[in-house]
Amino acid sequence: MEYNHLIVGAGITGCTVARHIADNMGEKVLVIDKRNHIGGNCHSQIDEETGIEVHSYGTHIFHTKERRVWDFLNRFTEFNSYRHKVVTTYKGRTFHMPVNLQTINSFFGISLKPHEVGDFIASKSAQENIINPQNLEEKAISLIGRELYEAFVKGYTLKQWECDPKELDASIITRLPFRHTYECDYFTDRYQGLPWDGYAKMFERMLDHELIETRLNSDFFELKNELPQDCRIYYSGPIDKYFNYCHGELTWRSLRFEYRVEDVPDYQGTSVMNYADIDVPYTRIHEYLHLHPERENKSKRTVTAREFSKTWKQGDEPYYPVNTVEDRNRLEFYLEEASGLDKVHFLGRLGRYKYYDMDKAVLAALEFCDGNLK
Ligand code: UDP
Repeated sequence: MEYNHLIVGAGITGCTVARHIADNMGEKVLVIDKRNHIGGNCHSQIDEETGIEVHSYGTHIFHTKERRVWDFLNRFTEFNSYRHKVVTTYKGRTFHMPVNLQTINSFFGISLKPHEVGDFIASKSAQENIINPQNLEEKAISLIGRELYEAFVKGYTLKQWECDPKELDASIITRLPFRHTYECDYFTDRYQGLPWDGYAKMFERMLDHELIETRLNSDFFELKNELPQDCRIYYSGPIDKYFNYCHGELTWRSLRFEYRVEDVPDYQGTSVMNYADIDVPYTRIHEYLHLHPERENKSKRTVTAREFSKTWKQGDEPYYPVNTVEDRNRLEFYLEEASGLDKVHFLGRLGRYKYYDMDKAVLAALEFCDGNLK
């Protein structure tokens, strides 16, 4: 088959662009991925021992405000009605996360009413004299005060990013809301849920089109010369790798998961339990059966995964862009190189070096298609 388009990476970005081209341009698309599965880091598989769907790269909850993204994905899957709730453990006690009225009242042993929270936190953050927060630590303290910051954010963030929260961008912490009520949903987006019959099926349907061919175990850099030469390339791998790290490496965090089949029907009562203490080596424990309360668990056992954050090195899977000032400068050089290439487009979390959630990745891919692929 002759191809006009080559998609490098079968993650959520690559699958979205491939489908757009096949549907709207009626042209042939080749999708390659170096892994043995599609779906990128959103991939899930069924654990053979228990029959439970396990997210291979950590829990991925789909949530979006964007009707367009929701409608697009609903062509390939239905979603269940799961609403994400996270509990965090600190010094052996459990609290709601993100920080809400339960977290504050239980932590301080008080019983504030919602209208009293603003003044309470303001009196705490006033002691710090932070006028214009410049980094994650200052931003967090200005939002929740030092005590809550030190309990729930500092240790977790140190474990997750392995660097001083003063060196991290404030935007990382604004991913989390801070609530003056007992509302404990992690996300407030109108559209939320998990693919009814699993992420794997959703991605299979996205790529199930007569104009799309998918090749797994196919590394772009190893196969470069054997791949169709005269087509447009949509590259969703790491941008620095494409240019052979000529301006140095961008920094990433990687993750490691320790899986266990626990001999109890329910291990922790929720899908994600965070661990805020610095001396607990993992950041969180995932328990996948809670993501699908509509499914019956016949095994009466449950799968958990302890998540350990680690420094990325070449060969590891990149998960989170660290995005230090040095990274941002380096990225400028890479984007400059990229803009010099007519037929290669850099997309997705890795290709743009952006901390995209799934829905933002889909939206960015659709908007890219609007502007470039008519
Ligand atoms: N965070 C924290 N304590 C928590 C949860 C999150 O300090 O219990 C901080 C941490 O710096 C983290 C950031 O908030 O990197 C964003 O958290 P989110 O849950 O959005 O991260 P993700 O699910 O993408 O790993």
